[in-house]
Amino acid sequence: MGLEKVCRAGVERVELQQLDNMIMPPMLSDAKDRWIWAMDGLGKFTVASLKKLRQDNRFEPAPYVIKRNNWVPRKVDILAWRAELDRIPTRCALIRRNINVMSNLCPLCSEYPETVEHLFISCEFAQMVWNVVSQWCKLGPVFAFGMRDILDGHSYVSGSPKLKKAFHAVCLTTLWCISKSRNELVFQQKHSSLQKVVGDIKALSLLWVRARSK
Ligand SMILES: [Zn+2]
Repeated sequence: MGLEKVCRAGVERVELQQLDNMIMPPMLSDAKDRWIWAMDGLGKFTVASLKKLRQDNRFEPAPYVIKRNNWVPRKVDILAWRAELDRIPTRCALIRRNINVMSNLCPLCSEYPETVEHLFISCEFAQMVWNVVSQWCKLGPVFAFGMRDILDGHSYVSGSPKLKKAFHAVCLTTLWCISKSRNELVFQQKHSSLQKVVGDIKALSLLWVRARSK
């Protein structure tokens, strides 16, 4: 009895045909192999079709995932995570939330509006701190234009995974110490010198990494 004879309705006949097609060997031809642009019905790549794909948001960037580092305390990791999300109560952030503050200027330099990027990266004080930290780590100058450059910087350092992780821990500790010196100035009118902040970064990162990395 042939398989076709047991098919009683049109739907089953169609399904059988589809099954037949699936198990049929591929048809090969003598034509030369060629690339086909699968994102367009014509199979031909054009800049216009790529542009249309972008406009249709079919190439959505993957969400940024912040890398955790268990060689620093959880609170230090959390500060970096909040900074990346722009959830640090800088003066500009407070003004955005309609909270009354005397000035939007950075308390460390009093020259530019205090945003997350300014406080941790472009402020003259922060730049001096990063310069000394990079020299201490025997690396070239730190070039950062946003928080992600700081948080991902360890990936571009040559060396073993442990060395990269240690540098990542130093970067997170640097963010922590800049934030601490900023808060001490705002809430306790306590001025921190460059030497004091860098000394704290060295002492804390060595303490934390030694204690947690075994
Ligand atoms: Zn500043």
